[in-house]
Amino acid sequence: MSQKILITTAIDYVNDVIHIGHAYQKIVADSFARYYRLFPENEVFFLTGTDEHGSKSEEAAAKLGVEPKAFVDEVSAKDRAQLDALNISYDRFIRTTDADHREVVIDFYKRSLANEDIYKGSYTGLYCVGCEEFLKEKDLVNGKCPNHPTKEISTLTEENYFFKWSAFSGFLKEYIESHPDFVKHEARKNEMLSFIEQGIEDIPISRTTVHFGIPVPNDPDHVLYVWFDALINYITGAPEYFADDNATIIHFLGKDNVRWHALLWPAMLRSAGFRMPTTVYGHDFFTLNGQKISKSLGNVILPTELVEKYGVDAVRYYFLRYGPLRNDVDVTIEELERVYNSDLANGLGNLVSRVAKMAEKEGMSVNHKTLVISELEDFKIFDQYFSDFRIDLAIEFIWNKVHELDRYVDHHKVWEQKGEEKEKSLQFLSRGLLEIAVYVSPLLPDTAQKITDQFTGDTVVSGNSLFPRL
Ligand SMILES: [Zn+2]
Repeated sequence: MSQKILITTAIDYVNDVIHIGHAYQKIVADSFARYYRLFPENEVFFLTGTDEHGSKSEEAAAKLGVEPKAFVDEVSAKDRAQLDALNISYDRFIRTTDADHREVVIDFYKRSLANEDIYKGSYTGLYCVGCEEFLKEKDLVNGKCPNHPTKEISTLTEENYFFKWSAFSGFLKEYIESHPDFVKHEARKNEMLSFIEQGIEDIPISRTTVHFGIPVPNDPDHVLYVWFDALINYITGAPEYFADDNATIIHFLGKDNVRWHALLWPAMLRSAGFRMPTTVYGHDFFTLNGQKISKSLGNVILPTELVEKYGVDAVRYYFLRYGPLRNDVDVTIEELERVYNSDLANGLGNLVSRVAKMAEKEGMSVNHKTLVISELEDFKIFDQYFSDFRIDLAIEFIWNKVHELDRYVDHHKVWEQKGEEKEKSLQFLSRGLLEIAVYVSPLLPDTAQKITDQFTGDTVVSGNSLFPRL
């Protein structure tokens, strides 16, 4: 029986081009999508894209003197180029300005309205333009939004349509507690239960002061905004997955977005009569040289800059192995370069090159060229890391194999061996490298291909250095 698996990332807001801070999540999600695609029985769909409506797009466009749509077209295309540079294998790059998305959002709204979960009211509160959200006094740090400490908080009164979020508190609590795989990891789950404990209030889902958005059906002075528009992208992008109770749906996001995905989104889905996602995974954040990455601090690095300098798989490797999967992490370029040299140039790259050159010299043909991941001896261990969302351990597992083969070469002094003994060693090493290529393929796809190419021809042909020393 085929297994449908939907992998999604947060869709990034297009007020600015995504930087390496956003890219981390895409690399993680991409590795999961590529991993599940290794199994022929899986029907994998990988969705990412851009969130485009709202006041920030309007403001940014106005500053440049262009129409909002022209502005978001440009930023969205730049974001997509960043993802392409990182070899992100999305099946659809969705934009909330896509025509089909508008239809889906309107339909969703009508379903929720018909279930009496939407009503008209007015709201006065503290508002952060950076978040495009009303905040509570208790959310503020020194009178400012913790995410936007440079922006002023204003008081706003607005007539809004509200989503009856509070009505789902009991459902959410019960659901989270009875579905251990739903909110991951554990710290995130506890945060969510604590949010519920503190009390969930109804949430405004429309604005009259914003024009760049999807109009509320039958009340076009209002446009739907932020979450009621953005979250629904998952259904627009992959409707057949949400229509299938047996599909696996995994949402990857940053920890600041978990609340919306683990509490609001399930309430919306429940209201409109859709199934729940399987897992909401919130990763932590990284800082760069001890600082938050932000335009105002001037420390923004684009993925393309790193990829040009170090190569796409070096960037993927560093973040997958040492990134903020479960804890906040500080990254530095010095550390990236140190890891590049030790793990990649002197590690996998050197091993492949040594073995390929010796095998090439012998004119050797590898005995078993085609390997299937599920038939590998220790596959179950590797698979469990993906089930546990421990992609950091999965990549460590592969590098343990790299070290084992390195030790084999040195211990047996393969370069001094002769005849049958040498042939046996090189067959063993080549087979080991082909296994590594299979395991590493969802994480470092180009590297996997380059290894496979060297060892699967009629005879072994050594290639260029996988990771030239810096
Ligand atoms: Zn804010």
